[in-house]
Amino acid sequence: MSMLAPNPDANRKEKRVPLLSKPGLDLSRGNESKDIPPPSLHSNGCKEKRCKEKGKAHPEFGSNYHQPALLNVSSLRQVAEGTSISEMWQNDLRPLLIERYPGSPGSFAARQHIMQRIQRLQADWVLEVDTFLSQTPYGYRSFSNIISTLNPTAKRHLVLACHYDSKYFPHWDDRVFVGATDSAVPCAMMLELARALDKQLFSLKNISDSRPDLSLQLIFFDGEEAFHLWSPQDSLYGSRHLASKMASTPHPPGARDTNQLHGMDLLVLLDLIGAPFPTFPNFFPNTARWFGRLEAIEHGLRELGLLKDHSSERWYFRNYGYGGVIQDDHIPFLRRGVPVLHLISSPFPEVWHTMDDNEENLDRTTIDNLNKILQVFVLEYLHL
Ligand SMILES: [Zn+2]
Repeated sequence: MSMLAPNPDANRKEKRVPLLSKPGLDLSRGNESKDIPPPSLHSNGCKEKRCKEKGKAHPEFGSNYHQPALLNVSSLRQVAEGTSISEMWQNDLRPLLIERYPGSPGSFAARQHIMQRIQRLQADWVLEVDTFLSQTPYGYRSFSNIISTLNPTAKRHLVLACHYDSKYFPHWDDRVFVGATDSAVPCAMMLELARALDKQLFSLKNISDSRPDLSLQLIFFDGEEAFHLWSPQDSLYGSRHLASKMASTPHPPGARDTNQLHGMDLLVLLDLIGAPFPTFPNFFPNTARWFGRLEAIEHGLRELGLLKDHSSERWYFRNYGYGGVIQDDHIPFLRRGVPVLHLISSPFPEVWHTMDDNEENLDRTTIDNLNKILQVFVLEYLHL
């Protein structure tokens, strides 16, 4: 621990700076980066024999063209009944509310916990741990991303992601930083989604002709937080490593001109969730249609009385124009052309990067409501 002696005050405000002026990220053109061409959609998704135009998007491929299959009222009710905030709290969340900075004993425990919660499910999750060493301000350290995939050979995946590391802070009066909103709650929400939808996800086992060749992936990043001061070198360790690894891994297996990033239909990144009255702005024009689904689902569930303590004065999802990009684990993927939905509450929770980001300050009802919205979104996306 003496290796890690960052000054906590120095990096509180460093993390999230607008990226709008950054070269290569022209947001008016969506996620496309000028130096890295966006994935060629054609060669990955096209089933048409006559479709020979390389690099041209096939109409049925990717989140730009994919259509959700909307749930009817009784399915919406089923989702609301099927998710359980108390189960999530007890079984998924509490074990994560520990100190878990990269390489710490808590990090190992959190990783074991996440994998055990997924392994016991019925759906055919394939778990992979991506361990690597990276230079940090405190020398080489070890990091481990967790990747959990259904139907790994499916052409496309909807990807949900969050970071499971907590930021390192020296203990303060015996208090430990546990990063409840940052990002224990998002991890628990993803685990609860896998549990609550286990039956439907199990049915993905046999992707048939009636369904798109599309499945689900969950990514739990390590090392999102800076050890010392937020900078391009000291932050996003796990996502930088994984994005570059996926870019050089052929997908579907054996493919010559497409890689795993081409297979990422949409990356939904969850961060800083769990405080009361959150608002989620939309960041990217090219995924606005999917943000619109979140808004519509929130409205639909509310109309049916399936959201608790929900005020129409305070919608969670509000598309009020595009804010600046916030630095987070989606950046290495965004730069490589992956379509992104960034679900981060803005403004940040008041407890952000303080010892008060703990269980006491979480809002159960809000998290329960968000679980319902996210689960409906995933079912619709996957046509389940
Ligand atoms: Zn943080």
